[in-house]
Amino acid sequence: MAKVAIICGHCRNVTHRHPSVVRRYTLAFCNRDCRFAHMRGLREARVRHRLQTEYVKDGDCWIWQGASSPKGYGSIKTGRFTSAHRAAYELFVGPIPLGKYVIHSCDRPACINPAHLSVATAQENTDDMITKDRHRFWGHGRDYYMKYGGKY
Ligand SMILES: [Zn+2]
Ligand SMILES: [Zn+2]
Repeated sequence: MAKVAIICGHCRNVTHRHPSVVRRYTLAFCNRDCRFAHMRGLREARVRHRLQTEYVKDGDCWIWQGASSPKGYGSIKTGRFTSAHRAAYELFVGPIPLGKYVIHSCDRPACINPAHLSVATAQENTDDMITKDRHRFWGHGRDYYMKYGGKY
């Protein structure tokens, strides 16, 4: 049977499919990459929307109203991150370089205001904590520190 032309829901290129595999009412894609890219886009839009709406302003800080971790960091499911401030940094500022941490200039873990977020190396993060007197985590040993004190 003749193939039918479909327009890819992601790249808009025309491609051809056997009619039996073209589902009506759902978008069709020319390949897996396009399908995944489209799904990533949907997820990003959803995360972006949540990050722009699910906070309350407290002074300059945007306090995340969604779920939060035991240490008070906001959490959100993005597929890549579970912390709201990291997701906020990536969406509103730019990619977080590998191995870098996102730190708060306001020292409020639940804040997602991109203006208060900056990337730091683990060392800078440690320095930042020591200057802010959060080095008490070291007292519990390195593993505890990496888990709760130095991770974010
Ligand atoms: Zn495509
Ligand atoms: Zn803040």
